[in-house]
Amino acid sequence: MPQSRTKSPATRRPAAGQSLRLGIDLGGTKIEIPALGAAPAGERELLRRRTPTPREDYAGTVEAIGALVAAAEKEIGGKGTVGIGIPGSISPATGLIRNGNSTWLNDKPLKQDLEARLGRPVQLANDANCFALSEAADGAAAGAASVFGVILGTGVGGGIVIGGRIVTGANGIAGEWGHSPLPGRSAADGPPRRCWCGRPDCIETFLSGPAFERDYAAAGGVRIRAHEIAQRAEQGDATARAALARYEEQLARALAMVMNLVDPDVIVLGGGVSNIAALPRDVPKLWGPHVFSDRIATRLVTAKHGDSSGVRGAARLWGADGAA
Ligand SMILES: [Zn+2]
Repeated sequence: MPQSRTKSPATRRPAAGQSLRLGIDLGGTKIEIPALGAAPAGERELLRRRTPTPREDYAGTVEAIGALVAAAEKEIGGKGTVGIGIPGSISPATGLIRNGNSTWLNDKPLKQDLEARLGRPVQLANDANCFALSEAADGAAAGAASVFGVILGTGVGGGIVIGGRIVTGANGIAGEWGHSPLPGRSAADGPPRRCWCGRPDCIETFLSGPAFERDYAAAGGVRIRAHEIAQRAEQGDATARAALARYEEQLARALAMVMNLVDPDVIVLGGGVSNIAALPRDVPKLWGPHVFSDRIATRLVTAKHGDSSGVRGAARLWGADGAA
C-alpha cells in the first residue's frame, strides 16, 4: 500500500490522559487520515497521512482504510476512535451506502465491513456534514448555534449543524440542497440542464466548479479553473465578470432558500470554488430580495480549515470522551 507523507507536522505522541481520535476522508481519488489528540486544554494534530483510493475496488478500499489506521496507530503508539467522512450517505432503511459519486461504494455495507476490519465500532457521515461539524466546532463558525456548511467543489453538498450536532434527518439527507432545482430559474440562467442524479436543473449543475467553468467557456471565455475566472473578473475581463455575476446571483438564490428553511446563524463556504474571495463579499448584497425577512443577520464566511475541514470533522464524529 503506497503511502506518502504530507507537509503536516512530524508525528507526536498523545500526552498522558489524551484520547486519540482518527478521522478519515474517503474521497474519490485519495483517502486521508489525520490523528487528533484531545486534551482539556485543546486539541492538536498528531500526524497526517494519505493514500490513493483504489477506484472501482470496494474490497481494496476497505483494506486501504484498515492499513492507514493500523499504520497511524503503530506510529503514534495508541488506539483511537475512528470517524469517516464518505461521499453519499448511509440509507437509514438498509444501512447501505447510496447517493455517492464513488459508485463502487454504493449498495455496500461499508460500516459493517470497516468495523469487522478495524475491530471496533466506527462512525460514518456524509463528507459535507463532517465539513459543517468541523467549522462549527473550531472553525469559521465556532460558537454559532446553527450552521449550514456548503461544499462548492466537483459537486455541491451541504450539512446542517445545530447545537454542535449534525442534523442527519429521517431520510439521512438533511442539507442535501445541491439536488434541488435552482430557485427562481429563468432564461438568464441558460438552457435546461440534466444532473447525473437524473433530476432537471439541480443546483449542482449551476454551482459546482465544473459548471461555473463550463458557463464561462460557453459565454465566450476559455476552459480555465474557477479561481482563474475570478482573477480575470477582478482584472476587468467583461466575459469573466458576467460569468461571476451570474454565479453569485445563482448562489444568492440558492442560499436564500436555505435561509428560509433553516435560518442559520452562519453559512460556511468550502470546496474549490470557495477560494474565490469575492463570494462572501458580494453574495450577501444579492440575497436580500429572496429572503423572507426585512433584516438579515446571517453571516457568510469562508472555511477556516480549508481542505482539512472534512477530515477534522470526521475525527469529531466521536466526542472528545470517545462517545459519539
Ligand atoms: Zn442532482
